[in-house]
Amino acid sequence: MANEVLKVEHLEKYYQKKHVLHDINFSISKGEVITLLGPSGSGKSTLIRCLNGLEDFRNGEITFENKKVIPNEKNWQQLRQKIGMVFQSYDLFPNLTVLDNILLGPTKVQKRNVDEVKQEVDELLEKVDLLDYKNVYPRQLSGGQKQRIAIVRALALHPEFMLFDEVTASLDPEMVRGVLNIIQDLADEDDMTMIIVTHEMNFAQQIADRVLFLKDGSILEDTPGKEFFKNPATDQAKEFLQSMN
Ligand code: ADP
Ligand code: MG
Repeated sequence: MANEVLKVEHLEKYYQKKHVLHDINFSISKGEVITLLGPSGSGKSTLIRCLNGLEDFRNGEITFENKKVIPNEKNWQQLRQKIGMVFQSYDLFPNLTVLDNILLGPTKVQKRNVDEVKQEVDELLEKVDLLDYKNVYPRQLSGGQKQRIAIVRALALHPEFMLFDEVTASLDPEMVRGVLNIIQDLADEDDMTMIIVTHEMNFAQQIADRVLFLKDGSILEDTPGKEFFKNPATDQAKEFLQSMN
C-alpha cells in the first residue's frame, strides 16, 4: 500500500497460556488516525504495547516503514524512537523539572544539539500553554498539565507515529478537553499518524478516520469512522456503543 507506515499481520499474543490477541491484521497509512475501541479487557493495551515493542508476541509480523520488526532485536531500539507513546499514567521523572524530563530523550538518547532542542521545546510548550511551567517539578502540576507535558515529551523525539492509550482516563473531567484538543491539533495541523485508545466517544467520532473494534482479542470491525458510529456492523459493537452512552 502507498504511504503505509505500519502493517500488522497474523499477530498472536499470549500471556503464558492465556491467548489475548487472535490473528490481528491491519495497516495504517501516513496521516491516518485510527481509534482502537473495545470493552475493558479486550486487548487494546496489549496490542498497543506490541506495536511499540514493549511486549513480545508469539506469532505474526509487524512491519514498520517497510522494515520487519522483530521484538528484542537491536534495530527495534532504533525503530522505537520513531514511535511516540503516551499512557494513562503520566510517567514523568519526579526528580527532574519539566524541561529536563523533555530534554532527556532528544539530547541523551538521540544526541541532538541541546540549544536546538531547547528552542523547539519552547515552541511545543507554548503550543500546549505550559511555557511558564518549564522549570517546575511534575508534582507541582495538575494531572491534565502532566499529561500535556507527557505528550510534548513524546513529540520532542520527532516521532513519525503516535500511540495514545487512554491518556485522559485518570483525569478530572475539566482537564480532559485540554488534552484532547492537543491530540486533535496533531491530527489537523501536523497530519500525524496515530492510533488512539479512548473512552471519549464524542472525541473518537470526531477524530477517527478509521475505527478498529476489538472484542476478546479479535478485531471484529475495521471500518471508516463515520460508518462505525452511524451503523456498526456487529451486534457486539452496537452493544459497546450503547454501553458508552
Ligand atoms: P484492555 O486494554 O482492552 O483493557 P488489556 O490489553 O489490558 O485490555 O488486557 C487484555 C487481557 O490480557 C485481559 O484479559 C488482561 O487481564 C490480560 N493481561 C493484560 N496484561 C497482562 C499481563 N501482564 N499478564 C497476564 N495477563 C495480562
Ligand atoms: Mg487498556
